[in-house]
Amino acid sequence: MKNSDSRMKTIGLLGGMSWQSSQYYYAQINQLVADQLGGLSSAKVAMVSVDFAPIAQLQAAEDWPAMAAMLSQSAQQIACAGAECLLICTNTMHAVADDVAAAVDIPLIHIADATGAQLQKDGVRKVALLGTAFTMQKAFYKDRLKTRFHLDVLVPNKAKQDVVHRVIYEELCLGNINASSKSAYIDIIEELVAKGAEAVILGCTEIGLLIEPKDVSVPVYDTVELHARAAVDFALEAN
Ligand code: GLU
Repeated sequence: MKNSDSRMKTIGLLGGMSWQSSQYYYAQINQLVADQLGGLSSAKVAMVSVDFAPIAQLQAAEDWPAMAAMLSQSAQQIACAGAECLLICTNTMHAVADDVAAAVDIPLIHIADATGAQLQKDGVRKVALLGTAFTMQKAFYKDRLKTRFHLDVLVPNKAKQDVVHRVIYEELCLGNINASSKSAYIDIIEELVAKGAEAVILGCTEIGLLIEPKDVSVPVYDTVELHARAAVDFALEAN
C-alpha cells in the first residue's frame, strides 16, 4: 500500500453525455485509485452530470456556441466544488473543449491527448477511429491526433459512419447492447484494418460497452480507460 498521506487531488467530471458511460468513468477512476493506493482508498471526485436530451438536440442543430455556454457553466460548478482538474466525459463535446477550458482556472485533461499519447508511446502510426459523426467528420479530434501525435487516422465511409452514429444515439446511450450492432461494428473495424489500421480508437465513450479487445484483430484503445488513467495519474502525481 502506498503512503496515503500523500495528497490526492480532486478529479472533476463533467458527465451525463451519456450517463451510461459516466458510470463507467466513475468506476474506472475509483478502481485505478484503489489499485494504486490499496485498502479502502477511493478517488476524490466532484461531478456534475447534465441532462443529455437538450444537448443532443443542440448537437443535431449544430448549435455549438449554445453547448459551449452550457458546458462552461457546468465546468464552473465543478471548479467551485473543489475540483483540481476537469474531464469532459465525452469525445464529441471536446468540439467545445477550448471554450470550456477558458471558463475555468483548473486544467482540462483532453481525451484526445490521453488517447494519442498512448498510441504514440505504443508506436502506432495508422489508426481507425469510431465515434459519432461529429467526431469522425470534424477537425477538432482527428486534427489533434494528426498534429500532436503524428497519427494517420482512418474513418469508415459515409454509409458506415451513419451506422456507427445511429447505434450510439439509438442504442448505446440508452444502455441497449445488441448482438447485430456488435457484429456490424466488428465488420466496420476489420474493413479499416484491411486498409492498414494497426489499432482502433473507441472514440465514443459508450463503444466500450459494445466492443471488447477480444472482438477484433488489432489492439483496442478505449477512450474512457485512457482518459480515466490520465486523470488518476494527475490526481496521484507528487506535488
Ligand atoms: N459519449 C459519446 C462520445 O464520446 C457520444 C455522446 C455525445 O455526443 O456526447 O462522443
